[in-house]
Amino acid sequence: MARYRSLALALAVFVTVAGDAAGDGGGAVAPGPPDVKAISCLTQSVCRSRDTVVRGEEMVVRGANLEAVERVVFTGARGNGDDATASVSATTERSVVAVVPAEAQTGAVVLQGSSSSTLARIDRVRVRRALKVAPLDISPGSSFYFGGRRKATFEFTVDQAADVRVELVDGESQAIIATWDVAAEPGVEQHVRWNGKVRGAAAGTGRYSFRLAAPVSASAKAVPEATDAFFFADHLFPIRGRHDLGQTPTNGFGGGGTRAHYGQDMFANCGTKLAAARGGKVQFAGYHSAAGNYLVIDGAGTGRDYVYMHMLEPALVKTGDRVFTGQKVGEVGETGRATGCHLHFELWSAPGWYEGGTAVDPLPALRVWDRNS
Ligand SMILES: [Zn+2]
Repeated sequence: MARYRSLALALAVFVTVAGDAAGDGGGAVAPGPPDVKAISCLTQSVCRSRDTVVRGEEMVVRGANLEAVERVVFTGARGNGDDATASVSATTERSVVAVVPAEAQTGAVVLQGSSSSTLARIDRVRVRRALKVAPLDISPGSSFYFGGRRKATFEFTVDQAADVRVELVDGESQAIIATWDVAAEPGVEQHVRWNGKVRGAAAGTGRYSFRLAAPVSASAKAVPEATDAFFFADHLFPIRGRHDLGQTPTNGFGGGGTRAHYGQDMFANCGTKLAAARGGKVQFAGYHSAAGNYLVIDGAGTGRDYVYMHMLEPALVKTGDRVFTGQKVGEVGETGRATGCHLHFELWSAPGWYEGGTAVDPLPALRVWDRNS
């Protein structure tokens, strides 16, 4: 045994002398031994602390004289049985990047060069498992309306503390239109709620999805991901039952004659539920000899007004009330100057009904809302 030890010592001395000789010769200066200063996740938010790495995530070793490093060995417990080796993906003089193996265990980490020579050893590196994220109530297939009582909500839990980013993605363009950064605690239900706005205005009608990017800014392929898609519309069609949109020109905007007809007459049985096409504030609810029981709602997030006439009974909401999109406001009737049960519906441009706005033909919008709801 003593003989082997002295042989190894002799070799080490020889190597050192050779290195010095090269330096004296004026050629390339041989690098000193690797000097490790720090080991961590490549993305700091993934680890949260130094000397900690996460299985499946990229790690970085920083220091000096690291260019010869080819492998990172997680030695784990005593003995070789649980060793796990990672090949480095990028090396510079000052840093080494590798993906932490799935079997890596907490313990000493050894940096190896070619021929498995040990270049450096870090006594203790904590290895954590990757964050697990469980989406909870993701209500697939649900529909949400701008200004509605129910907001599109995404719920999830994590199995360890983490900074998690939730993204809202436009289903058509795939653009990320909103993000939430959540400092999630393990086992606690996290909620992200979208109010239907993009840059302060109602988002367009279509499909959207929540996407979980956790942890924040980790490389995309290493990110556990969950999505949930839902339908969102900026309006709801106001007649909540069988109906037709009007059959004759006199049912339409302008009325097809000399009379002023500022809206669209849409037919349905008397008693059919009417809901607010767009929530907002009730500007007026009352009775008029021509309009019958009628209602004007100042639409949320828009200067436009939405007018409902000939309702069976007085509106279910009062002037000044706040109304949600989809909230029942009354029923189809034929009060006032009306022939047959129908909803006379008007749409007024900002700033609204008899406030300086003008009535616009609502039929194109009604057709879209009717298709979507
Ligand atoms: Zn009418």
